[in-house]
Amino acid sequence: MYTFNPGPSQVYPAIRQYLTAAFDEGWLSAPHRGERFTALVRQTVAELKTKLNIPQDYFVFFTSSATECWEILAQSLTKQRSFHLYNGSFGEKWLDYAQAIHPASSGHQFGLEEVPDASLIPADADLVCITQNETSTATQLRDGAVLNLFNRCQQTGALLCVDVTSSLAGIHLKHIKADVWYGSVQKCFGMPAGLGLLICSPRAIARAREIGEKGHYNSLVSMYEKMLNHQTTHTPNVLAIYLLCRVLLDRGPIKAIDQHLRERVQRLYQFLEEHPQFQPLVQNPETRSTTVVAVQAAPALIEETKKRAAAAGLTLGSGYGHWAKSTFRIANFPALPDVAFDQLLQVLSAVSAA
Ligand SMILES: *Cc1c(COP(=O)(O)O)cnc(C)c1O
Repeated sequence: MYTFNPGPSQVYPAIRQYLTAAFDEGWLSAPHRGERFTALVRQTVAELKTKLNIPQDYFVFFTSSATECWEILAQSLTKQRSFHLYNGSFGEKWLDYAQAIHPASSGHQFGLEEVPDASLIPADADLVCITQNETSTATQLRDGAVLNLFNRCQQTGALLCVDVTSSLAGIHLKHIKADVWYGSVQKCFGMPAGLGLLICSPRAIARAREIGEKGHYNSLVSMYEKMLNHQTTHTPNVLAIYLLCRVLLDRGPIKAIDQHLRERVQRLYQFLEEHPQFQPLVQNPETRSTTVVAVQAAPALIEETKKRAAAAGLTLGSGYGHWAKSTFRIANFPALPDVAFDQLLQVLSAVSAA
């Protein structure tokens, strides 16, 4: 049984053993102001930085979800307005959350085959917000595209904030080329939901301190002050932090994971391109995602494929929004073994032959 749903997604089989260990080692009642917990946080943050190539001077915070990060960024890092470049539902929702707090925030929607132009960024935006891997449309912004936006932000003084919920721990990201990166663990980390990660550059922290917003339990300045002692503002999801630490300790460096996912997705895209009835939703190889693939076909074939896959013990992700009936989605996440992809390709071949 494998799930290709892009979140909540396939978890590592070792999670079972980590859960038992967490219980046996007493983590489920561990005080979050105690030395044992703060040592766990220190180790987890150090491991994240090592395994994901996060600069040593960046700050890592624990949140409950990526959604919470949308709100934190609007509350604590935005003075007047943020500007959002988006092409799918998650990017759009982020803009909705930002506008609810700062009505002057605005956005620009771009196409699935398009790379957004840095000249669109207004000079007065406090934050520029992008979704590096848009899970709903299965698109991705490449390093070069992010860099162009970052360079423009350097001119205007805006902070570049990047949603990497469905690529963090899957793709080798150039963290130095943006100020804020965030995601949650139920995607590429191969963990159950319930924990978010917010990664901030020194520049972002300086901005938060300058703004000094402290009106919320999750105000960034308060989180920063607590994190100086490896603590959180509230009782955190200690179990999830423990699981994260174990997952990271058992995994290789991001470069190797990235390479593996790239090769695997290449095989999948090639299969789809040579196929008479299925095709990638995103035609442009430059804007396609590495970690989430949307497959387009006639709605009847989509339905039939999902059924056949389910019979073979494989759950496919449903299409999103506008493409709910004409696509399904496949998560190319690290916790899925290659054998799952072999089985998937067999099902896809058989369904079309029928
Ligand atoms: C899943 C997802 C989110 C939301 O994550 P939560 O953990 O549910 O808050 C946000 N952005 C993207 C790109 C996602 O894929």
